[in-house]
Amino acid sequence: MYRSMMLINGEQVEGASFDIIHNPANQEPVAEVVIGEAIDAVRALEAAQRAFPEWSSASQKRRCELLHDAAEIVRERADHIAELLTMEMGKPIRDSRREVLSAADTLDYFAEEGMRNIGDWISTGDTRSIVTKQPVGVVSLITPWNYPVELLAWKVGPALASGCTAVAKPSSLAPVAATEFVMAVNEAGLPPGVLNIVHGSGDTVGAELVTNPISRKISFTGETSTGRWIMEAAARHLKRVSLELGGHAPMIVFDDADIDAAASACVRRAFGNMGQVCISVNRVYVADAIAEDFTERVLRRTLKLRIGDPLDPEVDLGPMVSERQRRKTREHIEDAVRKGARILCGGREPEGSLFARGYYFMPTVLTDVDHTMRMMREETFGPVAPIMRFSGEEEAVRLANDTEYGLAAYIYTDSLRRAVRIAERIEAGSVGVNLGSVIDHHAPFGGWKQSGIGRELSHRGLDEYMEIKHIRLGL
Ligand code: NAD
Repeated sequence: MYRSMMLINGEQVEGASFDIIHNPANQEPVAEVVIGEAIDAVRALEAAQRAFPEWSSASQKRRCELLHDAAEIVRERADHIAELLTMEMGKPIRDSRREVLSAADTLDYFAEEGMRNIGDWISTGDTRSIVTKQPVGVVSLITPWNYPVELLAWKVGPALASGCTAVAKPSSLAPVAATEFVMAVNEAGLPPGVLNIVHGSGDTVGAELVTNPISRKISFTGETSTGRWIMEAAARHLKRVSLELGGHAPMIVFDDADIDAAASACVRRAFGNMGQVCISVNRVYVADAIAEDFTERVLRRTLKLRIGDPLDPEVDLGPMVSERQRRKTREHIEDAVRKGARILCGGREPEGSLFARGYYFMPTVLTDVDHTMRMMREETFGPVAPIMRFSGEEEAVRLANDTEYGLAAYIYTDSLRRAVRIAERIEAGSVGVNLGSVIDHHAPFGGWKQSGIGRELSHRGLDEYMEIKHIRLGL
């Protein structure tokens, strides 16, 4: 069985106990993970603090080269890391591989963006102002289980490129691939202590990373309720926080849309990673005139999805990460059906011996839904696509914005004017127009409302790891 250690000050270390990670596809043991306590978080923070002077004063070029080397090592190990990722959280192997390669691309991107850390020089009379950006210091990087490698890369890339040193804590549900990623990055030749990783529960290890005064910033991705606690705890030290939290993305399909493209994006975005994605399509609003046609196409495509062993490269959908996640999906479906929703497909576990021991669930399409139903208001984080009709633009916008979340939204229309008009009225950090994806390294990603604070990716994501300093010169 694979053994996953913590990395503190460049050394692999044991913890106070260990945990066994089980494969959600068959409940077989996958890895033994050492589990730390708050003291391990303290040790890691201290190591990062010791490493900070050298790393923060290293040239941009050196940091850039190390990040490119790290990206290359991650690419070389992509198959190995992807396999661990699939076995610990159930993501189909094709998607796991894509995730790891994308994490390597993120390191490359920030290696280059770090080179463009440019300030200002301002001349006024007999004074000159130099405006520079300096790394915040030691940062705590806390990540969830659904994209354990990619979302960690979104933090490690800008943290290291800006000159910060870091302590990462992955989710206890899926810490193995994330740890392999951190080991690979370290092997590029990082000085000890620049990037550490500790394992353990959020309440102990996570809380220490949040409250310990050594860390100057917390970059967190996870549930809104956890983010709220972190913000309150960080306030005691007025620490900087970046919070990437829950989402409840609407997709609006207008009557002039390319119906087939919209249906295809809907199926991919609602069911990919079993709906366990913060930017999954959670609510589909379709214009009355095309509702039947669109629903029919969504249904046809959904029925073609292949569910099975996530290590099989032909499989589209694997199991969910845990029984807890599957139960919540079931509860949301039962609640919707009780209130009048109609299940067009799915709504239950698949049958057959292959599925007997895994947390499998069939992708579920529902109609006759409304906003009294839990799945239309709360994050299901499961493979459901509830489809609701609308009759005009005003209604579509009102329904889309009727949520406490504001992470992503999708619009399908053939009219440029309408696309811009609606995109500007949607309360979300990212809006995909005729696209089922809103992720691009060059563009900022983050939430409005209860979906978070701050931005990741792009030069704005890098700025989140830097303080601005004004040096005023008298001549
Ligand atoms: P979670 O909030 O339960 O856990 C996330 C991380 O926080 C884990 O590492 C956990 O151990 C840690 N943690 C828990 N309590 C803590 C505490 N008191 N102090 C410090 N750390 C603590 O989230 P999850 O279930 O792992 O992930 C799913 C959630 O993440 C969903 O709500 C999803 O929408 C969200 N998410 C958001 C984005 C985004 O970019 N906005 C991306 C992916 C996932």
